[in-house]
Amino acid sequence: MAEAKRDYYEVLGVEKNADEAAIKKAYRVLAKKYHPDMNPGDAEAEKKFKEASEAYAVLSDPDKRKQYDQFGHAAFDQGAGGAGGFDFSGMDFSDIFGDIFGDFFGGSRSRSANYNGPRKGANLHTSVRLSFEEAVFGCKKEIELTVKENCKTCNGTGAKPGTQPSTCSKCGGKGQVVFTQQSFFGTVRNVQTCPDCGGSGKIIKDKCADCKGTGYIPMKKRYSVDIPAGIESGQAINMPGLGEPGINGGSRGDVRVEAIVGRHPIFQRQDMNIFSTVPVSFPVAALGGEVLIDTVDGKVAYDVKPGTQTDTKVRLKGKGVPSLRNKDIRGDHYVTLVVQVPEKLSSEAKELLKQFDAANDDSLNAVKRAQEKDGRDTDKDGKKKGKFWK
Ligand SMILES: [Zn+2]
Ligand SMILES: [Zn+2]
Repeated sequence: MAEAKRDYYEVLGVEKNADEAAIKKAYRVLAKKYHPDMNPGDAEAEKKFKEASEAYAVLSDPDKRKQYDQFGHAAFDQGAGGAGGFDFSGMDFSDIFGDIFGDFFGGSRSRSANYNGPRKGANLHTSVRLSFEEAVFGCKKEIELTVKENCKTCNGTGAKPGTQPSTCSKCGGKGQVVFTQQSFFGTVRNVQTCPDCGGSGKIIKDKCADCKGTGYIPMKKRYSVDIPAGIESGQAINMPGLGEPGINGGSRGDVRVEAIVGRHPIFQRQDMNIFSTVPVSFPVAALGGEVLIDTVDGKVAYDVKPGTQTDTKVRLKGKGVPSLRNKDIRGDHYVTLVVQVPEKLSSEAKELLKQFDAANDDSLNAVKRAQEKDGRDTDKDGKKKGKFWK
């Protein structure tokens, strides 16, 4: 049987009602004291370190702490016959250590774990300019990028043909060096990228002349990018595996192409909807009639109802922008009808409008006419108010 477990509060040396900060502080002290990096080969220290880490993992998590307070160690039992080990899976210790050790491991700890392992290459960023319509309906765009390609002369090794890179003597090919340092809490082992080989573990004595020892040649490459219908300014298309080469056999990074969408002279866009204003002549607004409305699908004939007021909003269903997820689903086009008051009139038109006003007055404004007779609707000079012209 596993030996009886100590109480977590006792392990950390804190009171039952200790707050988060006190728990963290207590663990920090113990972790520094018993960390395996500071006590190489000391099994007792390692045991203490694990015990403290387990206590901290539980007591620093409000849910787990509640369970522990209620049920004790039984809260985390693996069932009868279990190994008695604590299940650390699903717990992100890199977070805890990143947080706690960040200050005295120089923050490089998590990366140093697998310096010499395969790492994905960096992503490349570029942008394409699109017209309003290109963004609405999607298109193909050519982009040109300078990408590092394996040097053919040296086959990517960086060494002059006929020679081989040699193993770095400083780090023995590991790519990292360990040195110890004295500090106020004792001896610290510090792991750093090898300064001689830069982490590759290899030293190139005779450099390839074509790539100057880098193993890569910058090459201009052209790619065709499928721009999906419905894209908006600022959104990016990801092209996996076309970015910078990976390190130590890692995969290439991605290319991210950001869309920059130009303005349209008459259309505005908000998400999937398009907005525009359309002028309607005064006679058409009054009498009704057809206007042609520009949409991204071309001109659409629209029947204006008689007596349409300025600022009337019209919805053209499905004439908006397609959804990025499903181009068959489209937004709407909202049109504001703006009734135009004529500015320049021929004398004939003026005459007709005067006749119109008089006729309008006769037939519709009986009440107003009565008011005018009373003088209530005339100003000091006796002129009529509220007319289109004098
Ligand atoms: Zn080369
Ligand atoms: Zn080295």
